[in-house]
Amino acid sequence: MNILLSKHAVRRAAQRNLSEEDIRFIVCHGKPVRNAGAVFYQMRANRMPPDLSPHDPRQRLIGSTVVLCSCHQYVITVYRDESAFRRDRCKTKHLWKRRPFYCPHCGKRVT
Ligand SMILES: [Zn+2]
Repeated sequence: MNILLSKHAVRRAAQRNLSEEDIRFIVCHGKPVRNAGAVFYQMRANRMPPDLSPHDPRQRLIGSTVVLCSCHQYVITVYRDESAFRRDRCKTKHLWKRRPFYCPHCGKRVT
């Protein structure tokens, strides 16, 4: 899997201490929720691989969300906790209304 990260996603990931590998892990195991042209991958406790040790550092990814274009090749942004998910999604929607966002990979308008 080869995914691109937006500049915004790189900055948000750095602020939230998420590596590119962590982002891939969330996309691989998280629950996908479609919304307009984007897919939100939510890392929930019940989606963690059952063989993962409770002490594995990736357990800290629970509650994180990765937002991808529906082409699955471009990460728009990442969120750290589920309460922020709802709030930020409204904020993101608002931002997208003012400034249409186009995926640089597939050229589709994300929302
Ligand atoms: Zn795309």
